[in-house]
Amino acid sequence: MRRAKIVATLGPALDDRDKLRAAIEAGIDVVRLNFSHGDHETHARRLEMVRELSVRLGRNVGSLADLQGPKIRLGTLPVDGVDVPTGSEVFLMPGREHLADYSSGGVAALPVVYEALAKDITPGALVLIDDGSIRLVVSRLDGEGVWCRVVAGGLAKTKKGVNLPGVAVSAPSLTPKDIEDLAYALEIGADWMALSFVRTPADVIEARTLIQAAGGECPVIAKLERPEAIENLTDIVAATDGVMVARGDLGVEIGPERVPAIQKEIIAEANAEGRPVITATEMLESMINSPRPTRAEASDVANAVFDGTDAVMLSGETAAGRFPVETVRTMARIIEVAEGSPQLVHPAPPPHSEIGVSRVVAQAACQVARDVRATAIVVYSISGSSIQLVSKYRPEMPLLGLTPREPTRRRTALMWGTEAALVPMKGQATDLTTAAERILVDGNWAVRGDRVVIITGPPGGQGGTNRLMVHRVGDPIAS
Ligand code: PGA
Ligand code: MN
Repeated sequence: MRRAKIVATLGPALDDRDKLRAAIEAGIDVVRLNFSHGDHETHARRLEMVRELSVRLGRNVGSLADLQGPKIRLGTLPVDGVDVPTGSEVFLMPGREHLADYSSGGVAALPVVYEALAKDITPGALVLIDDGSIRLVVSRLDGEGVWCRVVAGGLAKTKKGVNLPGVAVSAPSLTPKDIEDLAYALEIGADWMALSFVRTPADVIEARTLIQAAGGECPVIAKLERPEAIENLTDIVAATDGVMVARGDLGVEIGPERVPAIQKEIIAEANAEGRPVITATEMLESMINSPRPTRAEASDVANAVFDGTDAVMLSGETAAGRFPVETVRTMARIIEVAEGSPQLVHPAPPPHSEIGVSRVVAQAACQVARDVRATAIVVYSISGSSIQLVSKYRPEMPLLGLTPREPTRRRTALMWGTEAALVPMKGQATDLTTAAERILVDGNWAVRGDRVVIITGPPGGQGGTNRLMVHRVGDPIAS
């Protein structure tokens, strides 16, 4: 049984129905709809196919809508790209999608799709293009744009990313495109909403306000990929529903050498606060073109598991790679083997900074389950928050979430070690125990005579989790 979850980005490589089916069977738990690429109809079509296949395969698959955020990009360049030689000068033209001429007087000119570029930067600032493969230093600004010296040259290509490390980018965290995409993602019923380039807790709150205004209830994942987000880590983790270690942009912004330690710091903070955390980007990058991972990649996936991540993510590997199904299978195997190894030490239980009853009951459930040698922990939850809490205590035995709400069930797909099933809204405790027994036995989680621990809230579904019961499967159910 694998406990850490797999998030896979959808894209052309999984548009084929048989491939998608095989990839779900191989272990996809959550699909990512990347709103940086593709139109709305394409995302809707992909999600529909995922939902249909997951029902058919009896697999609980959740979805994550990932908003582009204030990502700065080059505009459209000639098909052969624009050569930007080391040591030369280059002219950046802000707020432009196209240029009539990409070189003037021997100086390369590049359109940058960001209006405020010249306002946000000053001479001496670093400009990184295409994940830092081209490095520029700003030399001067004039009325029309930004003059730079090329420190490391290369071939600039259409739509490549532009990063301004250390510059406080003034663009709002949610762009007009994000606001449209967010509304659409809610319409098609995405289970989680990821925000790119989050800087402060206010960014998370703004998104949540928009979601509520639209009548939605989708929890927010803050993507940590800006230096400001690392400075505000504690506050952001407290404000958000979940986080992503977005190592791609983070590595460009702060330098790849700082990513491993910050990954551990983010995971520890998220675990202490009981928030799900996804470790993302370049996890099995070489499998875009190869059916086998490098040893470094296998180590990376396993180490994210050892760090205590809830989920690991695939990006280009499943969206545009040649071996999407093999990649998911490989990732699942690496996780399983890591989880079976003696190196796996689960992080200490989250400290009780806030002694909520639900948290105490969640922790007690894991302790009691261990002491009575229970074969499973069953958590009844309407919102899913109690299931999430128990998951954070990393129980050794299977964790089964029971919920009357389909969105909650799908949301548990991201939670470490969690399986879930739908049950009717709880009336009496006896009904719930009966339903739990049936699901446990049908799903081969428990047999007659096994002990299970069940936690719930008061009857009728009002109020938080406050009851804990040890039940022996097959015993009469007391009312
Ligand atoms: P992206 O985010 O793939 O949307 O850029 C993840 C990252 O930057 O690592
Ligand atoms: Mn990113």
